[in-house]
Amino acid sequence: MKYKGILEKYRDFLPVSEKTPVISLLEGNTPLIFSGRLSELTGCSVYLKYEGANPTGSFKDRGMTLAISKALEEGAKAVICASTGNTSASAAAYSAKAGLKCIVILPKGAIAQGKLAQALIHGAKVIAIEGNFDDALGIVRELSSGYSICLVNSINPYRIEGQKTGAFEVVDVLGKAPDYHLIPVGNAGNITAYWKGYKEYKGKGRIDSLPKMCGFQAAGAAPIVEKRIIKEPKTIATAIKIGNPASWSKAEEAIIESFGRIDKVTDEEILEAYRFLAEKEGLFTEPASAASVAGLFKLKAEGYFEKDKTIVCILTGHGLKDPELAISQTKPPRVLPRDLDKIIEKMKL
Ligand SMILES: *Cc1c(COP(=O)(O)O)cnc(C)c1O
Repeated sequence: MKYKGILEKYRDFLPVSEKTPVISLLEGNTPLIFSGRLSELTGCSVYLKYEGANPTGSFKDRGMTLAISKALEEGAKAVICASTGNTSASAAAYSAKAGLKCIVILPKGAIAQGKLAQALIHGAKVIAIEGNFDDALGIVRELSSGYSICLVNSINPYRIEGQKTGAFEVVDVLGKAPDYHLIPVGNAGNITAYWKGYKEYKGKGRIDSLPKMCGFQAAGAAPIVEKRIIKEPKTIATAIKIGNPASWSKAEEAIIESFGRIDKVTDEEILEAYRFLAEKEGLFTEPASAASVAGLFKLKAEGYFEKDKTIVCILTGHGLKDPELAISQTKPPRVLPRDLDKIIEKMKL
């Protein structure tokens, strides 16, 4: 059957009816890639779910197709979001397709270039504020309650509903639930969504067991791990640079109910996993995405995983979102004269 996006594929699990105008860019259906190296390392079967393959390059599209479709159904003329980048890129693209106005509030200077380019080129009205993401979210919460503009951050329940389809896809490919589900955590919408998805599949008898949910925050932005609001979160992984997660308590629920873990990984550990994924797995992700694999390395070193289990790591977004960071992590190309011998000589290095 022709693939028509997550709303058509998982219609029975989602709040859509015949009246819902489906706005889709054929998001979802992303690859679940077996990693021989990580499997060998852990003694388990490790799979990487590459969410960078979504139309705007991150998992945000799963939630946005539903949030924008429902906004249109409910008669909204405009949507608004606060964003560390990917939410705005996705909201801008889906709004363009739907013919809705899109307003984006960003923390000034804290957003990767690729994401900013996306929001701008899709025609969103982009406003940068002096403050961090949590400040931006406070502003859009107020604007959306006072001016009948639809809020499409992950506190919009349709976002979580759409994003839970990631769990359905994992199960549909594996034929079972994984034993461990590793995921980066920022605002904690995605860990909430995956847990909801797994539980719904179990409720329908599609799986017998549930995974242990293991969430990873950046060490300089780890409010859930440290059980306190972080006033000035710091990390190179801008997509998870959040000091007061909107879905904090839901994330804690997922971790407790699943007997999982919440932990933090340093920027160095994130960058090591980021380079590992690019150099050894052929997968270019943005740094925040690599937090799940940094977490895998950390838990492996602690002897956390039982042998012969199945592990899924979510790689949340595409590396091209943040080209400056990639370039900062590598050496620039050498410039040589147009001289074959010199080039051959250098190639041996
Ligand atoms: C949004 C985002 C996250 C964090 O997801 P939450 O639902 O906020 O926890 C992680 N990685 C990338 C690439 C993102 O865009």
